[in-house]
Amino acid sequence: MDKKTIKDIEVNGKKVFIRVDFNVPFDENLNITNDTRIRATLPTLNYLLDHGAAVIIACHIGRPTETREPQFSTKHVVGRLSELLGKDVKWAADCVGEVAEKAAADLKPGEVLLLENLRYHKEEKKNDPAFAKQLASLADVAVDDAFGVSHRAHASNVGIASELETVAGFLMEKEINYIGKTLEAPQRPFVGIIGGAKVSDKIGVISNMIDKVDTIIIGGGMAHTFDAAKGLPVGKSLCEKDKFDLARELLKKAEEKGVKVVLPLDLTIADDFSATANTKIVDVDKVPEDWEALDSGPKTSEAYVEALKGAKTVIWNGPMGVFEFDAFAKGTLAVAKAVAEATENGAISIVGGGDSIAALKKTGLADKISHISTGGGATLEFLEGKVLPGIAAIADK
Ligand code: AMP
Repeated sequence: MDKKTIKDIEVNGKKVFIRVDFNVPFDENLNITNDTRIRATLPTLNYLLDHGAAVIIACHIGRPTETREPQFSTKHVVGRLSELLGKDVKWAADCVGEVAEKAAADLKPGEVLLLENLRYHKEEKKNDPAFAKQLASLADVAVDDAFGVSHRAHASNVGIASELETVAGFLMEKEINYIGKTLEAPQRPFVGIIGGAKVSDKIGVISNMIDKVDTIIIGGGMAHTFDAAKGLPVGKSLCEKDKFDLARELLKKAEEKGVKVVLPLDLTIADDFSATANTKIVDVDKVPEDWEALDSGPKTSEAYVEALKGAKTVIWNGPMGVFEFDAFAKGTLAVAKAVAEATENGAISIVGGGDSIAALKKTGLADKISHISTGGGATLEFLEGKVLPGIAAIADK
């Protein structure tokens, strides 16, 4: 179902409450070290301001306890946000109550107010209805641009929707369009690539992918659990023995659905988990007992590249090896290149969840991807096919 966005409503002269994800990293002097998340919301914020809204921004930073640790105050974001918007940002020392109500009431069209950390109130994460009502009382309409918290039902994204019409901002719209619509009606062939450390983290994603894709590439640490479940030697490689039955079930499901599974043919193995370990390339049935696989091998990369040829939709989650060490980043790089090439040839490519963005950034090919999803846990749950409460709360068109 299509969701309403800020373009579907009148915002001129309205007080607009917007939930964003400004949970940015800080150094020890409380300087922002990476402002990507703030920049990502600028199209939505600028649109609202240009269209005559008075913009009331709500967000959380870190994991404050009831003592309201000052390092988690949103006031540390005011300076950067003002710079990026090119205008003064007012700040309220609380997100509800008298201070917030007065600041919101005084706010004029074209002005911006940043509220104090939502999570200074435990009611936010509890989705407390009275707290949601207090937030809602500040504004005429609500906008949700915080995809990263969509898998959680909190007061500022879900509770508030019972009080105020809630529509999607541009960031949220992009996530829904790319991931939601791609999973609903993918162009084929559709190739899923699942890597990363553990099968147990991604059971839901693998299972849902098998329901949708034509081909699934399983790589990275989790491939060894599948290999071991098939009776192959994996040495000291990452392996979850308690997931063998599940791995076999997933392979059976793929077979029944006619989904092609691409597992490693050869591996780059190491005698130690370190950047400077001795390494060898061996076929997947020749891993010695005291060695561990930390990357795919060249034959495997070739098979991955082959599987991605002609793909029209690609969803990629998780690296193909321990990409943090250059010696074990080759498999991930090969996949990134193949996904970039498929994209150049017209495929829609989506990368996200867990460590995928860091892995992709290391390959230098991030700008060749159609969509890099901004949410960690939210992206994984979306890829699992779950209904995300934050998205469900947004008004339908
Ligand atoms: P995830 O957050 O689930 O995407 O997992 C990412 C992590 O998986 C990265 O830190 C990688 O170093 C790790 N990883 C990938 N392949 C392997 C492997 N063969 N052995 C151990 N760790 C791996």
